[in-house]
Amino acid sequence: MYAPPPGVRTAPDLPVPAQMRAWTLGDPGQLTLSEKPVPVPGRAEVLVRIDAVAICATDLEVIRYGTPALIGGGLPFNKGFTPGHEYMGTVAALGPGVDEWRIGERVTVEIHAGCGQCKRCRQGLYTACLNYGRNYGEVDKGHRANGFTTDGGFAEYAVNNVNTLVRVPDTMTDEEATLVVTAGTSMYGLTELGGLVAGESVVVIGPGPIGLLAAGVAKALGAAPVILIGTRDGRLEIGRRLGADRVINVRDEDAVAVVRGLTGGLGADYVIECAGSEEAIGMATAMVNRGGKICLAAFPHDPVTVDVPQIVRNNVYLYGIRGEGRSATHRAMAFMAERRFDARLIHTHTFALADLPEALRHARDRIGDAIKVVVKARHEAAALPAAAQ
Ligand SMILES: [Zn+2]
Ligand SMILES: [Zn+2]
Repeated sequence: MYAPPPGVRTAPDLPVPAQMRAWTLGDPGQLTLSEKPVPVPGRAEVLVRIDAVAICATDLEVIRYGTPALIGGGLPFNKGFTPGHEYMGTVAALGPGVDEWRIGERVTVEIHAGCGQCKRCRQGLYTACLNYGRNYGEVDKGHRANGFTTDGGFAEYAVNNVNTLVRVPDTMTDEEATLVVTAGTSMYGLTELGGLVAGESVVVIGPGPIGLLAAGVAKALGAAPVILIGTRDGRLEIGRRLGADRVINVRDEDAVAVVRGLTGGLGADYVIECAGSEEAIGMATAMVNRGGKICLAAFPHDPVTVDVPQIVRNNVYLYGIRGEGRSATHRAMAFMAERRFDARLIHTHTFALADLPEALRHARDRIGDAIKVVVKARHEAAALPAAAQ
């Protein structure tokens, strides 16, 4: 049985085993299902029994290329590291002194628990912690980003800082709750980093999970109009159901001309760029209005040429987004709990934890039009389309 040190509390109705199943990363692209000791929460931490975990494009990056994960100061390969970061579950043990949470509460998580002592953490920008990954040996600053610098969610249990948890209402399924962190990222880009207020116009380029939920979040925040741009009609239709007032398939229409037409010729107040291609970033600079803002939310693999004179002449603000800080996940949860947008529309597949490689393949190759693929520790059936469950 689980035998934590004094001060760590468990409850008899939620017994914790000593060992758990966890996927660990070996060489690039190589995951192995192994047994690991169930981790022990410290001060200001809880143990979460993971009930569901969604696969993110960033997981595919970490598993194949390593970055942005950083373990022991280097790439995460062959270090017994468990990736996965978009999970939800049940509080199963409390670290010493924890009274913010109760055992048995359903929670979903945000990723970053900053060091709490660097300049960025002190400004509340803990997703941009200057001590990212410095959590080992003599440089230990206590930083955690589960699935990036500490063990993540492709396992049965994980330890979380109390500040990274969000309560899940009984009315919300496990699968939907895994999507809160994605919606929280979109929220963070629009509000905390962007300063969006109701009535401003928002364009989202790229209907992936973050882009689709950005359309939903923007609409719920009162943005008008909300315009979604992509290349696949099926994805654009989901975006329309999530709240986009107008969708544009760039194969059929001149997106810059349509956006200018819908905004009195001026261009949009915000452009959220979720595609990551040079063409999309060029489109963003061409359709943002003077003094407007462009949020870069996708990772281009190569350096990109950008029309800098256009940005300078027009006083355009250009910013990257890193994670989902400043309670953005809580505000995303508030909208989702009230169904101000239906995040369930982007959940397409569910697999058992043991079938993670198959789940990753579905996510990577978009098999069966996969958008968000969820893995569940206690789900032993074969993959079913979400609509059939
Ligand atoms: Zn993610
Ligand atoms: Zn910090």
